[in-house]
Amino acid sequence: MYNRILLAVDLTDESIKVANEAVGLCKATGAELTILHVIESLNYAYGGDVPIDITDIQAQLQDTAKERIDILKDQIEIPVKECCITQGGIESEIHRIAEEKQVDLIVVGSHCRHGLALLLGSTANGVLHGSPCDVLAVKVNKD
Ligand code: AMP
Repeated sequence: MYNRILLAVDLTDESIKVANEAVGLCKATGAELTILHVIESLNYAYGGDVPIDITDIQAQLQDTAKERIDILKDQIEIPVKECCITQGGIESEIHRIAEEKQVDLIVVGSHCRHGLALLLGSTANGVLHGSPCDVLAVKVNKD
């Protein structure tokens, strides 16, 4: 039985498939749904301070994420409690928000990986390790 579900989305076209699984669980359990998108901060991705002013770029990323998360929210059949957009490392932000919102399930998408991508690992794997609660990985590969 879940009371609060956190849906983490990368805001690609696949997000609705992952969202629908979370929605199904919310309907079945009566859980509240929070949606999270993390903007990977350029400083974080770069591994230190970026030597140029990236304020405008970050603001643009924020605006685009807001537009896309609103579109996704409109496609979802149940009321969404909250949409969060944060900046930082994807896995660590998902864990942080899961704790902050005291969710009992995190729902993420999961791709089958091969070759180098397999070595690099997936977001779903990263979220699973050290998660404060249950994690559902929804397979999103075509077929
Ligand atoms: P990936 O391993 O990057 O292919 O991503 C798989 C899943 O991780 C996505 O379907 C999302 O559930 C989650 N995810 C990836 N990137 C983000 C992001 N920037 N913000 C929130 N969740 C994400």
